[in-house]
Amino acid sequence: MRKQIVAGNWKMNTTPAEGVKLAKELVALEGSLNNVSLIIAPPYTHLSMIQDVIGKSSIALSSQNCADEVKGAYTGEVSASMLASIGTEYVILGHSERRQYYSETSETLNKKMALAYANGLTPIYCVGENKEEREAGRHFDVCRKQIEEVVYNLTEEQFDTLVVAYEPIWAIGTGLTASSDQAQEIHAFIREVLTSKFGAKAENTSILYGGSCKPGNAQEIFSKKDVDGGLIGGAALVAEDFVAIAKSF
Ligand code: PEP
Repeated sequence: MRKQIVAGNWKMNTTPAEGVKLAKELVALEGSLNNVSLIIAPPYTHLSMIQDVIGKSSIALSSQNCADEVKGAYTGEVSASMLASIGTEYVILGHSERRQYYSETSETLNKKMALAYANGLTPIYCVGENKEEREAGRHFDVCRKQIEEVVYNLTEEQFDTLVVAYEPIWAIGTGLTASSDQAQEIHAFIREVLTSKFGAKAENTSILYGGSCKPGNAQEIFSKKDVDGGLIGGAALVAEDFVAIAKSF
């Protein structure tokens, strides 16, 4: 059985005090959820405080990134081991904003993935095409390449826990969403690409949809066979909306 997951990527939003308030609201609401794992990814500065808030709940903590080096003279970086030491369980890697604005390549991502696993963090690995690539019908090739260049380097044991997120760049923060049929088509394709390397294990991989997912469209998207939940940006900043999305299975 695949895990149903709803993960919130807070990006560079909220003050620590606002983040703690949001986390408390989520803890108060999470009891109403069945069979769905909630993950939140606040900014680095909030992680410890928020871990204290969600510690006894079933909400899991994620970071939005980690360093591609173990330790040392890398000003401004935060290592996977530092994150793990404060109770972080997941790390979002390969988000399109990191690929686009911070020039993250497959080479960097391979190093980050290895360090994440070495420190017991579970990566949520993001793939997805931009508008031009979608319009040119290249979305399959783009996602295949992003998977082959990084996920194919994992061991079978590492692959067992991997979470994948399909996030079409043209749908992130734009109010546009992939239709549920478009989501199903590419999620099934991604699972096929994973199956080519890891066989039947790919049936157990949770593949999340991300891109303007909201309470009003989550149910339709999550109803599709190969969509196992969502990676949520904007709507993760409002506790009621995030929980409403998590109730959409
Ligand atoms: C994201 O960036 O991961 C995301 C899905 O953002 P939004 O939901 O705001 O489109």
